[in-house]
Amino acid sequence: MSEGNNHSNPFKIAQKQINDCADILKLSESTRQVLLHPMREFHVNFPVRMDDGTTRVFQGFRVQYNDAKGPTKGGIRFHPDETIDTVRALSAWMTWKCALLDLPLGGGKGGVVCNPKELSPLELERISRGYIKAIGSFIGPDKDIPAPDVYTNPQIMAWMVDEYSSIVGKNQFGVMTGKPLPLGGSPGRGDATARGGMYALREAARRLGIDLSKATMAIQGYGNAGCYAASLAESMFGSKVVAVCDSKGAVSCQNGICVLKVNEHKEKTSSVIECEGTDGMTNNDLIALDVDVLVLAALESSVTERNVDQVKAKIVVELANGPTTPEADEVLYQKGIHVIPDFLCNAGGVTVSYFEMVQNAYMYYWNEAEVHEKLDNRMTRAYAEVAATSEKYGINMRKAAYVVAVSRVVEAMKLRGWV
Ligand code: GLU
Repeated sequence: MSEGNNHSNPFKIAQKQINDCADILKLSESTRQVLLHPMREFHVNFPVRMDDGTTRVFQGFRVQYNDAKGPTKGGIRFHPDETIDTVRALSAWMTWKCALLDLPLGGGKGGVVCNPKELSPLELERISRGYIKAIGSFIGPDKDIPAPDVYTNPQIMAWMVDEYSSIVGKNQFGVMTGKPLPLGGSPGRGDATARGGMYALREAARRLGIDLSKATMAIQGYGNAGCYAASLAESMFGSKVVAVCDSKGAVSCQNGICVLKVNEHKEKTSSVIECEGTDGMTNNDLIALDVDVLVLAALESSVTERNVDQVKAKIVVELANGPTTPEADEVLYQKGIHVIPDFLCNAGGVTVSYFEMVQNAYMYYWNEAEVHEKLDNRMTRAYAEVAATSEKYGINMRKAAYVVAVSRVVEAMKLRGWV
């Protein structure tokens, strides 16, 4: 998450991707300029009372990148290295993600610079409420709807909904998604990101003629997305997960790790390392494993020029946002490795968030099977559209996803008379 040079600054990467797409679509200069910049951004500094009685000032951002297709939507990250450029990039990617899945939404993202690992539950609650107090006037169920992301969760969404409801003087559950079920959450939201990715993987494997019941898989990152991906890969396809890692290190087992055991170990020790029945390895060894499927579920810029040559997988599943740099992307394409790009692959989360908004508005709730079916339909359709576009233009899957998504945003901008 650095604001360094063009290779590591996520917003520079996002802008390069937009420029490449604008070239393919031969967009006018004015259209390109609108797409290259966030429409609105809010920078806030808010005071929070800490447990020891002192007050600390926390910095937060909310970026509303483009709302041509509807209210902006996207998560809130709590991370010590958060920067405005990371949030800008993530809000741009949300714009394309929503458009690609044909959701009536624009893209946004938020971030607070803090380290949840060093905060007590009460401090975390006060930061969550403080952030909403600071950005409350700029969000709303028909304006900008946040959700969970890195180091935020349904409990944090519940505090935020409660704070927002007291600001506006009425219950407004629809202002956030990813809420706990008793507060208007949607069935199926918990594992939606990973499940959506698995539907996309199923389609990719079908297209490439790979039998997932015999496939081996390595998973980089073991937060919400990575952890659910491990158990879904087993239960949906019977694939063998041979290695997983988190920020502290990696563990592997040639015959397949016991996902249940790793989950229990992570619950107890807050890391996967030293889990019984596994061998330790480095995170880079994991990326270099000779597996059929490599799932990237950690943070941005994980596969770069430095380690891309070592990737041997046939399919790369990008559950994280921005895990592959453009230089690495090109190498993967040249090597014939099939990448399911982030804003297609991890769109299950925001898709079920959209279902949550619909259910909140109707005050009528679906069951989990209905959510899964609707999510499967959307992911399958989006995958097919991207694959067809990739073949039509002879471009990689990420560029194809951009062509589909950006075309829809541009169409909305034209209809509205913006360009
Ligand atoms: N934070 C998730 C993402 O990056 C979900 C966003 C949402 O549900 O609004 O897609």
